[in-house]
Amino acid sequence: MFEIRGVTRVFPARPEPVRALRGVDLNVVRGGLTAVLGASGCGKTTLLRILAGFDRPDGGVVRLDGAVVAGPGVFVRPEKRSVGIVAQEGALFPHLSVAANIGYGLPGGGRPSLRPAERRRRTDRVEQMLELVGLPGYGRRRPAELSGGQQQRVALARALAPAPSVVLLDEPFSALDAALRVELREEVRDLLARIDTTAVLVTHDQDEALSLADHIALMRDGRVVQEGTPQAVYRAPADREAAAFLGDSVDLPCTVVDADDHGRTRVHCVLGTLTVATSSVDGDTVMLRPEQLEIADSGVPATVCATRFFGHDGLVRLRLDDGTPLRLRAAGDALPSVDATVRVRAVHTVDATV
Ligand code: ADP
Ligand code: MG
Repeated sequence: MFEIRGVTRVFPARPEPVRALRGVDLNVVRGGLTAVLGASGCGKTTLLRILAGFDRPDGGVVRLDGAVVAGPGVFVRPEKRSVGIVAQEGALFPHLSVAANIGYGLPGGGRPSLRPAERRRRTDRVEQMLELVGLPGYGRRRPAELSGGQQQRVALARALAPAPSVVLLDEPFSALDAALRVELREEVRDLLARIDTTAVLVTHDQDEALSLADHIALMRDGRVVQEGTPQAVYRAPADREAAAFLGDSVDLPCTVVDADDHGRTRVHCVLGTLTVATSSVDGDTVMLRPEQLEIADSGVPATVCATRFFGHDGLVRLRLDDGTPLRLRAAGDALPSVDATVRVRAVHTVDATV
């Protein structure tokens, strides 16, 4: 679908130019949802705008379905790319009705006078899009008469109306409140799967990327630092910074015993000898996830320092006898009391899927 090679973008600015993209390599495969995940300012929007054709790279090449759309001496205009985009802030035209917003990118979008057959085709397509995003009958409203979630659905309908071969979504849920965000993103994922569209979703939200995407590209400082399935990037992050960004982590001092050719390393640490993903070992430190530790009948003695109840589960802070701090996840109804002495062991330290 998209093949992105060595893409750079430098914005002239004072006191010095901003190197927003420093050589991005990324493959977006047909079908499915690719999430570009990274902290604010790492270059996500810049990359998306280059894919859409709203901006030009200073270096590198972008191919769409095998043809160069941006590269040395080549630039294909946005309307020739079959790419839909949902911008970060809704960006609906406030003076146009919902139907006119959705119809904007369709043939004859800007023209006031249309032949009847053309007009009918447009109206049908707009109706179809309103159905698709669950807003039938909303065509006459103005954007201001819709909730935030409804506005984002209209923006999605507008992007999908011309049946683009790929749709780009720039943090489309970030302005919504937590409950609505989860609901709408599930809905959008199902919808995109149903119409079999390739999508690229840009987000700074780890949960969103891990739960929605088929494929994750982790971005940092204008580069893609890791690509893979959500399971792979979470279980075997490229480095410690990636690990910390993708979720909570517990770092323990260790010594390496040996490593095999399948990405596994045996380490010796305060919790015993563990087999872990090689990428979770950095020098003399091993990174574990809190859910890879559990309170059990056997294990290393530890004292409970604090617990946090989250409903669905809880977080337990502990201290081993030698002072090492640990955090682990436990069932919400099985949280130990503070100052209790418990035993801790590591479980599921290597994921069979990685
Ligand atoms: P993200 O979407 O990941 O938050 P952006 O792609 O918006 O990041 O921005 C990446 C970097 O480029 C930031 O440091 C931002 O300030 C800078 N930047 C983006 N657009 C411009 C611009 N038009 N002029 C100057 N600097 C820009
Ligand atoms: Mg952005």
